[in-house]
Formats: sequence, C-alpha cells, structure tokens
Amino acid sequence: RIIDLTRLHEELNEEQVAAAAKTEGPALILAGAGSGKTRTITYKIAHLISSKGVDPRRILAVTFTNKAAREMKMRIQQILEGKVNLEWMGTFHSICVRILRLCLSNERIGQALGWKINRNFSIYDDDDQKKILKEILKPLFGDDMDAQKLKQARSIISKYKNSVVKQSLPDGSYRIVLQTPTVALEQAAFPDQQKMAGVYRDYQAKLGDANAMDFDDLLLNTVELLQKLPQVAAQFANRFQYVVVDEYQDTNDVQYELLKLLIDRSKQNVTVVGDDDQSIYGWRGANIEIIRNFSHDFDQVTFFKLERNYRSSANIVKGAGSVIAHNDRPLEMSKNVYSKEPAGEPIHVVNVLADTFEAEQIAKRVLAAGKDAYAQTAIFYRTNAQSRAIEKALNDSRIPCVIYGGTRFWDRKEVRDIMAYMRLLSNPKDDAALLRIVNTPPRGIGGGSLDALRMTATTNACSLWEALPSEIAKGGRTAKGFENFKNMVDGWLALLHGNEALPILAEHVIRDTFYKEFLKKEDETTSDERGRNLDEMVNAFREFEEENPDKGLDEFLQEISLLTDADKKVENAQTRVTLMTIHMAKGLEFDTVHIAGCDEGVFPLVRESSMTETPDERKKQAEEERRLFYVGCTRAKHILYLYHAGRRFWQGSLRPFPPSRFLEEIDPSTTSIEGRCADESSQEFTGEPWNQGLRGYAARGAGLRPAYGSYGNGGNRFGASRGADFSGSYPRSFASSGRSQSTGLHKTQ
Ligand code: ATP
Ligand code: MG
Repeated sequence: RIIDLTRLHEELNEEQVAAAAKTEGPALILAGAGSGKTRTITYKIAHLISSKGVDPRRILAVTFTNKAAREMKMRIQQILEGKVNLEWMGTFHSICVRILRLCLSNERIGQALGWKINRNFSIYDDDDQKKILKEILKPLFGDDMDAQKLKQARSIISKYKNSVVKQSLPDGSYRIVLQTPTVALEQAAFPDQQKMAGVYRDYQAKLGDANAMDFDDLLLNTVELLQKLPQVAAQFANRFQYVVVDEYQDTNDVQYELLKLLIDRSKQNVTVVGDDDQSIYGWRGANIEIIRNFSHDFDQVTFFKLERNYRSSANIVKGAGSVIAHNDRPLEMSKNVYSKEPAGEPIHVVNVLADTFEAEQIAKRVLAAGKDAYAQTAIFYRTNAQSRAIEKALNDSRIPCVIYGGTRFWDRKEVRDIMAYMRLLSNPKDDAALLRIVNTPPRGIGGGSLDALRMTATTNACSLWEALPSEIAKGGRTAKGFENFKNMVDGWLALLHGNEALPILAEHVIRDTFYKEFLKKEDETTSDERGRNLDEMVNAFREFEEENPDKGLDEFLQEISLLTDADKKVENAQTRVTLMTIHMAKGLEFDTVHIAGCDEGVFPLVRESSMTETPDERKKQAEEERRLFYVGCTRAKHILYLYHAGRRFWQGSLRPFPPSRFLEEIDPSTTSIEGRCADESSQEFTGEPWNQGLRGYAARGAGLRPAYGSYGNGGNRFGASRGADFSGSYPRSFASSGRSQSTGLHKTQ
C-alpha cells in the first residue's frame, strides 16, 4: 500500500504532513502532549518504506519502551497492510544488544576490541549486580557493610556510566570521553572518590570475568566499541539511511553520543520528536538540554511545531497547560497547545481526610463508571508504594486491575532460580548465576567451600565455573559437592549442545535438581503455586520455540532480560483497570485518569537530599516534578480526577499533608472541587515552599526516608520503564505496618 501525500493528508493535519513528508536532513518535531508526535513519525516511517522505497531494515527507530516499539511496528504493518521487517526498531538498550552481538560474532572485530566479553554475554539485572557488588564491598567494609552501602555503590557506578566527560580539543571542538574505570580513577581527587572508583574498577573486572554486562554497560560498551572502531561505526551509520527517535526529551548524554555515532554525518537524515515539558527522567541522567540544543548540533535543522492536541478535552488541555506554565521555559521552545474538542467535564479535584478514603473514593468512582470503562481507565501515583492501598480497595470492590511494576513473573524467586541454571548453561562464566544456584537446592556446598572457589577464581582471573576443576582436583568432601554439581551441569550442557528442545531441557533441570521437592520442604503452603509458576516458565520456553524455530537459549534469555515492567504480559488486560506510576505512563492515553496523592511532599515528592541541595537544584527538582504532573494529566482523554488526602501513612508514620502546589496552580476555571480540604493539623504546612515542609517533618522527629535518592538509584534500567519502580527503596515492612495502622485510623473516624 502506498502512503503518498494524498494519503498523508487524509490521516494527518497540515503541520503533521509537513513533518512526515520531510524525509531528508535533520528535523526536530517539538510539540506538546497529545499533539500527534508519535502518530506523525509512525506515518513518516510508513511513507519512507512505501513511497520512497526505503528498505525497512535500513531505518533505525528508537522508542522509549519495548511495548511502544511493538505497537509502532504493528501500526505500520496495519497502515501498509503487510509484514514489514523493522529489525532496528526498539529501545536504546535492545538496539545496543543487537549491535554488540553482531559485532562480537565477527572474529575480526572481536580481536580488534580485545575484550574479555564474548557474544553470549549475560545481561545482569539489579539482583545480579548486587550479588557481584557484595563480593567486592565485603572485604572493604567488613562488618560495616550494609544495604545502604550497597545501594550507594550501585548508584555511584550507575552515575559514572551515565555521564560523560567533555574533553576540549585544540581546535575548539571537544571530544566525549566515557567514564570508564580508568577515567574515573584518573579524575578521582579525594580518598573517598578513589575508593569508589576502585570499587567501580573491580566491579567491571568481575563482570568481565563473568562474561556479563549490566544494563548501563549495554549502552556504554556499544559507544566504546563504536568510538574505538570508527570504521565499524561508519558501516552502521551507512546502513541507517534514516534515523527516527521518539521521546527525545529523555535522552541522556551517553545515548546522545551513541546517536551521533550512528547518524551519517553527510546526510543527517534524522528526525527527533519530543516535548521538553515532558522530560521526566532527569533523576536517571536524562538531559533536557539535549533536545533544547538539537538545532546547534546538526546543520540546518527544520523545526516543526504541532500545537493542536487531539487527545484531550479542552478543560484538560487548558488545566494541564496552566500548571506547566509555572516552569521557567526557554522562549524558543514555547508552544501554544490548544484543543478543538468541547470543554468537557471539569477536572475533578477530590479532597479526602486520609489515604484510606482516597482509595475508597477511587474504587467507588471506577465502579460507578461501569465494567465497560475499565480497560480505558488508569490510576496513577507518584511512587509504587502507594499502589498497595489502591489495589486493596479495588479488590474489595471486585474491580479487576493490572499493576505495572509489581513483582514481575520473571522476578519470582523460583523462576529466577531455574533461570539461573539456564543462564549458566548459556554462559558458564556467569558468576552471578552460579552463585545463585550452586547450593540451591542445598547440596552441601557451604560458605567455606565457596570462599575457596572464589579465591581460586580471583587468583586465576577466571570465572567460578572455570575455577571448579582445580577445586575438584584438591579432593575431599568439598570437592565431592563441587564435582556432583559440575557433572550435573555438564550433563545438561551435553543436552543443550545436542539441540535438545528448550522446554525439555528446562524440565530436566527442574527434575534433576529435585527443585519441586525443595519447594515443598521450604514452605508447604506456597509450593503448589510456585510449582505452577515453574510450569508456566516451561510453557514460556515452549511458546518461544514455537514462535522462533531458528532461535536458541541465548536469544530467549536476552529477550527476558530486556523485558521491562511496562512489557509485563497479562491475560485479559483489555478488561482491567491499569495501575502504574506516572513515569511508566509516558506516551499512553486513557479515557479516564485518576491521580492519587496530590499532596505537597508526595507529589511534588520531597526527597531527603533536598536539605542539602542548592536553591538552584531544588528549583530544577521542583520543575521536573511539575513536568511529571503535566505528563500525568495529559494522559486523560475525557475525565481527570486529582485526589488529595489530608493525612497519609508515609514512610512509616501517619503525617499531615497540605494540598499539592499543583492543585493551587491549576486554572480554577477548569476544575470542580469536591470534599473538604485537610484538617487543622496540616494547616502549619499550607502554602509552604518546596522544602520547608520537609524541615517541619524533621523537627517533629519523623525520621524522613528518601523515597528515592539521587539519580541512578531505584534501578538503572535505562530506556525502560522498569527504572521508575521506586518500591525498592520503600521498605515493605513499613508499607504493611502503615496499612494496618491506617485501618485503625479508619475505624476511629
Ligand atoms: P505524547 O506527548 O503524549 O507522546 P503525542 O504527541 O505522541 O503524545 P499521539 O499519541 O501521537 O501524540 O497522538 C495523540 C492522540 O491523538 C492519538 O490518539 C492520535 O491517534 C490522535 N491524533 C493525533 N493526530 C491526529 C490527527 N491528525 N487526526 C486524528 N487523530 C489524531
Ligand atoms: Mg508520543
């Protein structure tokens, strides 16, 4: 099917057509929420393929989540009425994995790089990372080693990996230098910094020994590879005739450097789309200046503005616009977003006395809207910890919901254990996998034996698996344990290399390890359910093999490790209410949106570190929170509810909260207010500036815990909404004790 200009005019407005039809040279589409940015580039790609005859394999298209990539692919196939091989459409991370595997499969490139890592590298997630880091930190801190140190180290390492150093060159230009351990060590001025840079170096060395990369490495190593081998970079740049990037406002420095390496400098056929008002990943290193500087970085950029919002009713567009107007925004980026839709319902601001009522009110309204509305209804919150109360209220009202960001199927302990066995089969050097299961189920390999094994591995700078034979050769009881383990794994390896079907291999692993018996011994009450999860996992292997007859274990594991919360597979998602943090809601739209917790201190979120921040940093922080609020509101097509609770269990104690400043900023002509605003105990905070409320709490002795720390914390999964999961820093015991106490509160009222 040909997508020519006539067809474009049928589907897009004039500005959108201009942007879609402009194929050559650099273009920036800067536009407000819901103005059809994603729609425009979808048609642009369809147009490139059908009218310009561009090979879809030569289009590089970057989306923010895997889900967004899948949806865009499907849409393009619908538009073109046929299958299209857009193999280079995906997140930055999935594109990097592809580049890395391709390059590392090439012997010449592999040799030129001289890396320890080979093509079947494992991708380490937070949990694996922690395992490796613990090994490094333990000898450094001894008994002082705690969860806080671990978190800090992870966050610092992630920061190294996501920022770059600009090195000036004699001709006035500059070079982008990645913060590799060598660079970090060179730059470290103080003993503390030197210590951390040393940890970073040891951590990278361990990853190398384990033939593994963490999520940040996927980007970092790709950039390093392309910087080191300019001829390879040139080949890719030449391959990608056209480059398109959605959600460009959330690009970070390393991703930007990657793009520059992949864009053919002579043609500069690159289209980026974004909205600087929706840049919400600053805490993870996204740099809003990148979109603002686009026109300086490329030659003769064509600049498109889309101002008409097609998504939302006029009240929602106007209300959201009135809040974001409180941010300092560069003049040249200004956009006048308007809607031609009717005003529609006012934005409902709902005040309740306490968080339990908030959850009840949400459930009540969702129920009243009727079953048919469920699939088009979303409930957003600022932090994952808030979902618990809402989920409970929905359950009580028998409203089916799907929560993004909960414990994912693939994160369940039993699934992770068996997957660790599978990972070891795919990459025997995978230390994190080996450490996870070498004694699970228990087979008499104790801490002492493991220490000896570690020592051997460190001495020989090899993986634990490679160190096994010399441990076994030592003889004795320990050796026997290791030998049995190794024989078992070798048996499966033989099956794998004999091309045994993956589901059968997985079943072998579960059976040979007596894993289900182990589950029974561990906890009789949960063993059935956990056993079923393992069956479901075997089923996933079966499905994968059916769908991808030419792919193997490596590819399966790769697919799983790139899954994010936003990709979570749920049955019947069509008939369920969606619960997610606003960070995950980027790019999505729903008929009805409920935003919980519009309380000053919750949203905008006050962080512990804001005490030490400069006024400038605080302002930046507040502006990012405001953008987040703007993103949340602009997901709604017709109906928007904003809830404020006067009191809330928050980080371990019951606290009063004044209404969010955003509720005060919103144009009153667009809202209707329901319910009573807070009780007197919260008066002392009302209208207080950004962090004074925080000081108030501190003075009351309520030990304030950061809901998230500085950026890099809370997950380092870039390009994927997984990072928006803040629940990791919210202790579960707090959440549950908070719940039970809040039920008490409910009763007394
Ligand atoms: P966001 O900033 O939230 O990512 P966006 O700018 O990418 O939003 P889209 O998601 O592409 O906006 O579009 C928003 C909604 O408006 C979609 O439902 C889309 O189909 C619809 N839309 C956009 N342009 C048009 C148009 N010209 N005609 C009809 N519907 C349109
Ligand atoms: Mg979009």
